[in-house]
Amino acid sequence: MDATTSQSHFLLVPWFGSNSHIIPMTDIGCLLASHGALVTIITTPANLPLVQSRVDRVTPHGSGIAVTTIPFPAAEAGLPEGCERLDLIPSPAMVPGFFNANRQFGEAVARHYGRQDATRRPSCIIAGMCHTWALGVAREFGVPCYIFHGFGAFALLCVDYLYKQRLHEVLASADELVDIPVLQPFDCKVLGRQLPPHFLPSTSMGSGRMQEVREFDMAVEGIVVNSFEELEHGSAALLGAATGKKVLAVGPVSFCHAPSLDPRDVSDDARRCMAWLDAKVAKSVVYVSFGSVGRMPPAQVMQLGMALVSCPWPALWVINGADTLPRDVKDWLRENTDADGVAQSRCHVVRGWAPQVAILDHPAVGGFLTHCGWGSTLESVAAGVPMITWPLFAEQFINERLIVDVLGIGVSVGVTKPTENVLTAGKLGAVEAKAEVGKEQVKKALERLMDEGEQMRMKAQELKEKAKAAFVEGGSSYINLEKLIHSSV
Ligand code: UDP
Repeated sequence: MDATTSQSHFLLVPWFGSNSHIIPMTDIGCLLASHGALVTIITTPANLPLVQSRVDRVTPHGSGIAVTTIPFPAAEAGLPEGCERLDLIPSPAMVPGFFNANRQFGEAVARHYGRQDATRRPSCIIAGMCHTWALGVAREFGVPCYIFHGFGAFALLCVDYLYKQRLHEVLASADELVDIPVLQPFDCKVLGRQLPPHFLPSTSMGSGRMQEVREFDMAVEGIVVNSFEELEHGSAALLGAATGKKVLAVGPVSFCHAPSLDPRDVSDDARRCMAWLDAKVAKSVVYVSFGSVGRMPPAQVMQLGMALVSCPWPALWVINGADTLPRDVKDWLRENTDADGVAQSRCHVVRGWAPQVAILDHPAVGGFLTHCGWGSTLESVAAGVPMITWPLFAEQFINERLIVDVLGIGVSVGVTKPTENVLTAGKLGAVEAKAEVGKEQVKKALERLMDEGEQMRMKAQELKEKAKAAFVEGGSSYINLEKLIHSSV
């Protein structure tokens, strides 16, 4: 540790939107510590186990990273006890309460640090996207504030362009194509209804809150991105030029952990999953997952399931909210898939949480049917696995364009309608009962990737090598982490 880094103290506050925000921000903390910075990660009691387990994987002796738990005033805001992530609230009516609790949480963080003497205060704050209160804390302490959205640089560039051009305000209908020409010569067009929530007439978070995030975004000193410069065709630099901010791509941050399962937190489900993969031929398996919150209408689950059980490739399928599916779908799954590792089906279902990074890194996995969440996208790139794209909501339709058109490492399943943003635990926000994508359409996309996708596979492998090179000493992400550390002293 040199004299400069010894003075850096990063305060990281991951946004409690879903685990997909907490995972990469905790990993950024782990990376900063591995580069010699002091790191404090602030979390709440319910989110502590996830943060602590990731920290323990890199620093078994706790060196360089402190995890500080500050109570989240859920009950005071009329939320159920322990409701400390947005995806845990039982009803969309509780969204305002959650944001009120989050504001009070921010005040508690400020009080906590206000009591510390100056030497224990942070020299830089990195805040998750909706912790808009963090700016006030940073200003009070006179330290820089960075934002972490969880989006890739290309999507952020598109969002910035859309805010400036306000194309959503002149759309005749949600079926109209919106042209987002930010990364020439690539043509990025999405339908009006596929735009990120910032530009939709009603969002589950509320448009006022999106506006607050935009103001926060414009006021901070810089943007930290889980990506690497070589991936998104210069999007990070273009975003820097468009916003006048430092944009630092420091990923893939999942590389701070070994991809294999950590024996200390291996569940029986995870062990079964890996054993199932061990018995499969190299590159033969399709891994299917829609992220930490993504769900589909039951009719769509059925169409996807019928495609998976009748295609020639074994499938490892993670189903979120499987317990809430109607009885007929549950019965079908029990009869046709292998949920407990004993049946003979070629489709193994995981109900709940799967060890995604370890799965993607397994030699048996040949393709990833993904909802195009940015975390999943980058983890697939990092593992050199090409994708079948099935975006659901948020900025995922933009990510799909990057994967398919810009990077050439994916086949689109062809979904046109977003699934309602599912924010509430155990409930489908989607009113749409019908399946948009039929089983034949899914099978066709699987064939195009698994049978005919050799070139995409090769490109994905090349990107994996570039990702590794970016991450190690002298690589772009490594250098950006150093810049981040030096900018904070
Ligand atoms: N994830 C996981 N197991 C699961 C589902 C998700 O480990 O069963 C992790 C995944 O590896 C990624 C994150 O959760 O790090 C999902 O993030 P992403 O941005 O792809 O999607 P989101 O959950 O925000 O829709």
